[in-house]
Amino acid sequence: MSLLVVGSVAFDAVQTPFGEREKMLGGSATHFSLAASFFAPVRVVGVVGSDFGATEMKVFARRNINTEDLERIESGKTFFWRGSYDFDLNTAHTLDTQLNVFADFKPKLSSEAKRTPFVFLGNIQPDLQREVNMSITGKKLVALDTMNLWIDIARDSLIETIKDVDIMIINDAEVRQLSGEPNLHKAARLIRAMGPKTLVIKRGEYGAALFTEAGYFTIPAYPLESVFDPTGAGDSFAGGFMGYLANHENADDATIRRAMIYGAVMASFNVEEFGTERVARLTHEEINARFQEFKQMTHFEAVPFEPKAKAAL
Ligand code: AMP
Repeated sequence: MSLLVVGSVAFDAVQTPFGEREKMLGGSATHFSLAASFFAPVRVVGVVGSDFGATEMKVFARRNINTEDLERIESGKTFFWRGSYDFDLNTAHTLDTQLNVFADFKPKLSSEAKRTPFVFLGNIQPDLQREVNMSITGKKLVALDTMNLWIDIARDSLIETIKDVDIMIINDAEVRQLSGEPNLHKAARLIRAMGPKTLVIKRGEYGAALFTEAGYFTIPAYPLESVFDPTGAGDSFAGGFMGYLANHENADDATIRRAMIYGAVMASFNVEEFGTERVARLTHEEINARFQEFKQMTHFEAVPFEPKAKAAL
């Protein structure tokens, strides 16, 4: 089944301890749709300016991502984000955000877009996320991401928006910030009571955790020795996760658990190179090989411990 994402389509300037890029393709909807495109047909809702050229559009086209709902404003410039990371690659420091065409963005969904069953409300102003969510009539499952900025400056709107979503996918710092609770398990309970029955907590190099009606599930991150640029890891995770659910057309416990692994697999590829470079040329064989490695990494035989007789000790 098809999947719709609304979010930022951006140019990013990124500095990490391992290198830097002055202008590369980025944005929450970009990273999400590239990752999701390996699993399901994806449609992007967003806005770009006249500086968004054929080279950038080709990245979407090569993965067959539908860009009919990606608006182009000839008189404006594309959203721009500048960020840096220290050796602790888990925290992005925002140095500059230029909303540009995003400042006046009013999502206009085509009638086909309105009938999309799986929806991802990527990281943008929560009013816009809510508008998009309300305008989709054919939805079966809606997930949402956000960031510290919106929890800070648009908290009430965000709380209103999450009342009507099924799955929230955010990082651990955002969970604590939104709930006001330092313990992740208590925080998860508080957030699930706000609306989303399923909560996925992204924990960077420590993996991800899932809280549902059925209980708790946790996975590690794929063990990588070289991480170049963590930008977009969260959106790639969400893309693999939602893409897999859309492909399977359901979200039962076993499917959601596998979706978590595909999310972690896509995030791990994303961080191996700058921006979208790695995921843009990924293959299904590479994805499946890493999926199998996860099985290896997390599987153990549950043989209960039997204390030996005293004399044998
Ligand atoms: P993440 O997956 O969390 O690393 O998200 C990375 C992407 O978020 C970058 O490519 C940025 O372009 C985008 N981004 C950063 N700040 C914002 C913002 N305020 N609104 C929307 N997108 C943003």
